Amino acid sequence: MDIQQTLSIIKPDAMKSKLSGKIINFIEEKGFSIIAQKKIILVQKQAEAFYSVHNERPFFQELVSFMISGPILVQIIEAKEGVSLYRKIMGSTNPKEAEEGTIRKLYGTDIQCNAVHGSDSLENANIESSFFFNKLEIIS
Ligand code: ADP
Ligand code: MG
Repeated sequence: MDIQQTLSIIKPDAMKSKLSGKIINFIEEKGFSIIAQKKIILVQKQAEAFYSVHNERPFFQELVSFMISGPILVQIIEAKEGVSLYRKIMGSTNPKEAEEGTIRKLYGTDIQCNAVHGSDSLENANIESSFFFNKLEIIS
């Protein structure tokens, strides 16, 4: 059982609805420690770079516009098997299909405005964490 760090983003929809406190509480109650955190507003080029894996998808420009529409809260969170654990407690991409008791079921609105992002692999967790944070900002 390895301790793993993963990247979480509380997205603009949840920030606008003042749900960040509830989501942070949920994450901590599931056993995660928050080891880095900052509130930022992405510009278009940054959002395009972060989601570049999706740049051929029909929803790409809409996703970028959504992600730059307001502040986001970016976090590195840590727990045992943290990458898969966070994906599990986030729930499916579409909140309507997400399992009961998951963040997206509780706080998401639709397939785009789904409250949170979480890295989908350990490799991507490392890449995404260094996209947002330098070593001095990570307190583990
Ligand atoms: P996840 O965030 O669950 O890993 P994806 O990596 O497939 O999901 O997609 C990244 C983000 O793009 C989603 O969280 C969601 O905000 C948005 N998205 C995914 N699919 C769609 C879609 N069909 N229409 C609009 N937005 C979408
Ligand atoms: Mg993804």
